[in-house]
Amino acid sequence: MQIKRLFFNIKERIDVNVENRFKNDEELSGTINIVPLSFGENFDLLTLIEPVKRQFNYQVKSQDIYIDLSEYFDPERVQYSANDILHCLLHHAPGGQNKIIGLTGIDLFIPALTFIFGQAYLGGNAGIISTYRLRNEFYGMPGNDDIFFKRLNKTIIHELGHMFGLTHCHTMNCVMRSATYIEDIDQKEEYLCQSCQDAIQ
Ligand SMILES: [Zn+2]
Ligand SMILES: [Zn+2]
Repeated sequence: MQIKRLFFNIKERIDVNVENRFKNDEELSGTINIVPLSFGENFDLLTLIEPVKRQFNYQVKSQDIYIDLSEYFDPERVQYSANDILHCLLHHAPGGQNKIIGLTGIDLFIPALTFIFGQAYLGGNAGIISTYRLRNEFYGMPGNDDIFFKRLNKTIIHELGHMFGLTHCHTMNCVMRSATYIEDIDQKEEYLCQSCQDAIQ
């Protein structure tokens, strides 16, 4: 009985918290622009907006920008340089507190790692994420859109967390926990833990 009561209390607290975090667009502190870059997916980007808005209290929009990604292709690695794309994206950042995050279907690397799911400037205005390794099919498993969208949301929120100044978190299910492999992403929840939320407020 006591355990059940505790559960309800926690749930009520979470609901109130989420409720408080929703504000009118005029009250939001800035804009996050989601930019497809050679994305190759044909779903509506609007489906990504609500979970992002819920976490950061920013207005979230999708924006079309043309960037020639072939400039960032490394023929030896047969991958694209995340650092260089990020640098280029920063020039398109709207300024002030506003953020820009690129979504791409190409495979990204940074010099120290074989591949990355995403990369962002810590406390900065630009980030990039790749869906190249987010689908089950990449690992020879049957496709599953639900799993894909969860991984995608987690990756976007994780990189945005860095852009809001968060470093990696050790809390078990926090979205800011570092992820080296796809299993690491699957183990996380799609939201910031309480201490990460508090850190960006
Ligand atoms: Zn990270
Ligand atoms: Zn956390």
